[in-house]
Amino acid sequence: MRYLSTRGDATPRKFCDILLEGLAPDGGLYLPERYPQVDAATLAKWRNLPYHELAFEVLSLYIDDIPPADLKALCAKTYTAEVFGTEEIVPLRELEDGVYLEALSNGPTLAFKDMAMQLLGNLFEYELARRGEELNILGATSGDTGSAAEYAMRGKHGVRVFMTSPEGRMSPFQQAQMFSLQDANIHNIAVAGVFDDCQDIVKAVSNDLDFKRKYKIGTVNSINWARLLAQVVYYFAGYFQATANNGKPVSFTVPSGNFGNVCAGHVARMMGLPIHTLVVATNENDVLDEFFRTGVYRVRSAADTHETSSPSMDISKASNFERFVFDLLGRDGAKLRGLFEGELGKAGRFDLGKDAAFAQAAERFGFRSSRSTHADRLDTIRDTDKRFATLIDTHTADGLKAAREFLTPGVPMVVLETALPIKFAETIVEALGHEPDRPKRFVGIEDLPKRVTSLPADAGAVKAYIAAHCD
Ligand SMILES: *Cc1c(COP(=O)(O)O)cnc(C)c1O
Repeated sequence: MRYLSTRGDATPRKFCDILLEGLAPDGGLYLPERYPQVDAATLAKWRNLPYHELAFEVLSLYIDDIPPADLKALCAKTYTAEVFGTEEIVPLRELEDGVYLEALSNGPTLAFKDMAMQLLGNLFEYELARRGEELNILGATSGDTGSAAEYAMRGKHGVRVFMTSPEGRMSPFQQAQMFSLQDANIHNIAVAGVFDDCQDIVKAVSNDLDFKRKYKIGTVNSINWARLLAQVVYYFAGYFQATANNGKPVSFTVPSGNFGNVCAGHVARMMGLPIHTLVVATNENDVLDEFFRTGVYRVRSAADTHETSSPSMDISKASNFERFVFDLLGRDGAKLRGLFEGELGKAGRFDLGKDAAFAQAAERFGFRSSRSTHADRLDTIRDTDKRFATLIDTHTADGLKAAREFLTPGVPMVVLETALPIKFAETIVEALGHEPDRPKRFVGIEDLPKRVTSLPADAGAVKAYIAAHCD
């Protein structure tokens, strides 16, 4: 399998070439040159596999530069009941007739990002050892991504993590999750500033090409193809649990921010998994809902980006969306470049509303969308608690509300549960008047010793810190 860029660069690359890279050199995102097709016979073979073997089967269709025995071992090491809490890894439970929750948030940091990041940690360690190289991951986080990266990379050979976060602005639980890690290769940097300052620092350091090369700086952001690929697996696992045989279609609703999670659903559907509808659920930051309703893709300004109670979906643009647009435009890299570099660059928006391709977003690719507000989240959390004695987090609540708008008789609807409520306890208290349950291993983490360095909001200071901790 070879990979190409959405912006037209077709230099053939293998999986391991792009594993450690972010954007393609032409500024595009990597996609496989084609989507391998799975037929009914393949689905039948996969239906009863344990999760780690299913992961191996899906991944091996896209990865031919890691020996199968090694890839199998990496999947087996990653997807264990010990790390993800159950043998099913992503257990499904029925909430009401035909509506299911697929639990993706029982990994080490209680959010779905563990599903991909845990595999990425093992893939990085494997590939870096094979090349005799090291990597220093520099990131910026406001919560979920940073902790998932740290828990995936802790103790891994050849990898260090330097994670910047805005000092004092993460929830006490999120701070405790990250800062209590004592591993020598994990570095928490609390920046005196806001999240945007952290992102600016990461950009400034990455733009210093000499520094980047000398210190082998890399990232783990959501545009990484390996992360997306790992997420494809749980659409298959959800499908098998929601159906008794392989002819039946299933719909999925996905709480969405950067379009990474639901893009994996799109890939699964393109492979031939019988997905009826893919519902994109947004919060007040409705960039994606606007697109799927109108064909207009409009990047929001900082002032126009809302701080909401489903904060992991607070985006101004959806960084993975370009992958879907590439498929929507019939994989026309030149046309895509015109939209993303031309119109979007100049006007901050493009409009496909009158383009024949736009109608295909729903008809051919199965996409629908909806948006929720804070009041909707509170209502959904209360209602789910009251009628089903089930506590859901704020992001999952956005999903459940959207899902109910697109139910089709006879088609199971699977809502992806993207985090556990304890991560966003403040809103649960607002909705229900009490704290959510806390998994045992997190009891008292706020009292553990903290390992974090405070630095000014200055790229020079962060560079000096990295240089001092790199031997
Ligand atoms: C990251 C995240 C999302 C959004 O996922 P995307 O892949 O960016 O669309 C939704 N919910 C939670 C809890 C998250 O951490």
